[in-house]
Amino acid sequence: MKDKVPAGKKEKETKNKVTTGLKTPPNFIRDIIEKDIRENKNQGRVHTRFPPEPNGYLHIGHAKSICLNFGLAAEYGGLCNLRFDDTNPIKEEMEYAESIKEDVSWLGFDWADREYYASDYFEQLYQYAVQLVKEGKAYVCDLSPEEIRAYRGTLIEPGKNSPYRDRSVEENLDLFERIKSGEFEEGSRVLRAKIDMASPNLNMRDPVIYRILKATHHRTGDKWCIYPTYDFAHGLSDSIERITHSICTLEFEGHRPLYDWFLDQLNVFHPQQIEFARLNLSYTVMSKRKLLELVEEGHVTGWDDPRMPTISGLRRRGFTPESIRDFCERIGVAKSESTIDIALLEHCLREDLNQRAPRVMGVLRPLRLVIDNYPEGKVEELDAVNNPEDPGMGTRKIPFSRVLYIEQDDFRETPPKKWFRLAPGREVRLIHAFYITCVDVVKDEKTGEIVELHCTYDPETRGGWSKDGRKVKGTLHWVSAAHSLKAEVRLYDHLFTKAEPEDVEEGSDFKAYLNPSSLERLTSCRVEPSLKNAKPGSRCQFLRQGYFCVDSVDSSPNALVFNRTVPLRDTWARIEKAQIKIEK
Ligand code: ATP
Ligand code: MG
Repeated sequence: MKDKVPAGKKEKETKNKVTTGLKTPPNFIRDIIEKDIRENKNQGRVHTRFPPEPNGYLHIGHAKSICLNFGLAAEYGGLCNLRFDDTNPIKEEMEYAESIKEDVSWLGFDWADREYYASDYFEQLYQYAVQLVKEGKAYVCDLSPEEIRAYRGTLIEPGKNSPYRDRSVEENLDLFERIKSGEFEEGSRVLRAKIDMASPNLNMRDPVIYRILKATHHRTGDKWCIYPTYDFAHGLSDSIERITHSICTLEFEGHRPLYDWFLDQLNVFHPQQIEFARLNLSYTVMSKRKLLELVEEGHVTGWDDPRMPTISGLRRRGFTPESIRDFCERIGVAKSESTIDIALLEHCLREDLNQRAPRVMGVLRPLRLVIDNYPEGKVEELDAVNNPEDPGMGTRKIPFSRVLYIEQDDFRETPPKKWFRLAPGREVRLIHAFYITCVDVVKDEKTGEIVELHCTYDPETRGGWSKDGRKVKGTLHWVSAAHSLKAEVRLYDHLFTKAEPEDVEEGSDFKAYLNPSSLERLTSCRVEPSLKNAKPGSRCQFLRQGYFCVDSVDSSPNALVFNRTVPLRDTWARIEKAQIKIEK
């Protein structure tokens, strides 16, 4: 299959603001790290972290962050921590933390013994907060959440000081201690940093750093009834772990002054926060909240539904970790938002699987074909190469007999122009087998539906080649009816019909664009007998059809279920061809 991306092509945009990937994509974070190493910042150390909140399963956007954090650390001989940002006891669960670990490992990254939790730092974070209070840089505020919002001002108006802003250090210390010991109700008081209510940056207008939440935390139980906010916990956790480069997505750019403020006021180790544009992918959604909605409302079968952009969904669909890493490398790292065409992800997968997926034959919509001049009861074992891209993968035997199945689509009773497949009187090649000629068509008397074809074969064409040099244009895949295995095949299409489903009109919902045909189940497929013991999750190419994998949840040796990972048709290669034309 020819679907290589020419190296060094200029980045271009297609319609829908969808950008193409590059072979040597820009990565400005690499440039920053190299400069820091040259200047011996942090003694040349590179230490990153991947900080998921365990409130959902990871998606392909997280994969970009994982590849970036773990990848850069590995590239510069550094370390990358896995840190669970578990500061919100309400939405977080251990199930999510477990799935996150599985996904990061599967992607091929190793955090060794550096599995950390922000909740491990609760005591230290509390001490930092006490220090701010003692230095007059934080105060207990009794305004209600609504009042705090109202006092905050807007982008064009400054905020108003809280009436509690000038409490004495002693009073603040006493109140904060009592808040911690559970004396006050949720929402009645918070601890706020004392910065500047007139700051043009709203994040700097005395942000909340601790709130009361009388909830059981999945790791610390009921030990705490106050929890730090993300802004307070995140930078200080980075500092505690002596992270050098704290890489996050663009929406945190406006939080950086606050990130820096806490570190400077507390005079602790100061990591550098660097923001990059998050990954957006066409025809899918990427927010955990929306993905959770799809799961909870039953639009998909679960977080690992093969149509989901989650790592577990992609894994079950048959994606390889290598293809996802390749994709993340090709899309590059930039500072401006864009949407990547999902066809690029599929293209990366095809390139990988083309090299290593064994070729087999499977007939998705079977049509019975009888070879009239083939002896009844005879079975021949034919040789088939497992992968023309890799002779090392060897060959296998496939049985041939008088009754076969071919694809319904490969026959036309009245063929259109340029039809090279089977039709009455036409001769075609059966892959690895013989030339056959169609001599008769049997139809259902009532429905007129074609139920069986009769053919003759040429015994001199064994292996699919004719000594007399006569050529045939069509080559079909097939299975021997008696030897084939029944299977279910699940065909997937985009989850949404709109390239940017999150881009919806007022009052409309992203779910209005769910693709009603995103899953098609074919239950009477036939596959070659070598797949009898195919392991769950194992991948193959069904010749002429695409790449498939054995479903890891629903398949069993007696009831095989295959997922179509991706068809062979490569829309990405087409987009690119069109672009090469435009460039010329
Ligand atoms: P979501 O918006 O989907 O809920 P999140 O940012 O809340 O995601 P986190 O668990 O906090 O999810 O994310 C962990 C890390 O992954 C963060 O550093 C975050 O910036 C990064 N990340 C999340 N989504 C993307 C994305 N689409 N592209 C790149 N990085 C992402
Ligand atoms: Mg987040």
